[in-house]
Amino acid sequence: MKSDIRVCSAWREAHDRPVYTLSESCPACGADAENSAPAPLDPTDPHGEYRRALKRRNR
Ligand SMILES: [Zn+2]
Repeated sequence: MKSDIRVCSAWREAHDRPVYTLSESCPACGADAENSAPAPLDPTDPHGEYRRALKRRNR
């Protein structure tokens, strides 16, 4: 399934948090909206196992 949710491309400068929208521009600041980034926790991330191992070690 393809997500149509977009996020303001300038939210880091213009907003305190990501501004999501379904349109092609940010409703708050008018900047271009781009496809939202992939989820931070990607189960297919090849380095995920390594990062989790590091976290365990630093605990
Ligand atoms: Zn914006």
